[in-house]
Amino acid sequence: MPKFDKENKRCIHYHKMRFCGDWVPIKKLCDICKRAMGHLAFHHWIYAFRTETVIKNPKLALLNSIIACFPCHRQADALRELHDVGHWERIPELVRSMPIKMRMDVCNGLLTLVPKLRTVFNEALAEAERIEKAEKSLPHPKEMP
Ligand SMILES: [Zn+2]
Repeated sequence: MPKFDKENKRCIHYHKMRFCGDWVPIKKLCDICKRAMGHLAFHHWIYAFRTETVIKNPKLALLNSIIACFPCHRQADALRELHDVGHWERIPELVRSMPIKMRMDVCNGLLTLVPKLRTVFNEALAEAERIEKAEKSLPHPKEMP
């Protein structure tokens, strides 16, 4: 049996549960900023499974996750929250309600990102089209021998 690497904290948290084992990958760099800053931890974009399901198959806790440093983890949490709340139309009014310096910083940051986000969106669209095309090329389950 492989020895558990306690020093490298091979653990992942999921629904307030902690799952540990040598199946948890060790990463030394943040997946997002590629730096080795302080404590790295798993960030889950989606908690797709119930706790009971993950207890039976802990490797499921790795799905839909990234390894992130603390600053990237905070931003990832904020983006997940933006996604989950929705109501995008409220964001300009929320920004308008901020103190002037904060409002200018946020507007400047978001406006700087628009061209990059357009590129990210187009990449995601192309990936979605590739996946859809690949799924259509598979035989329908009823057609399988
Ligand atoms: Zn980072």
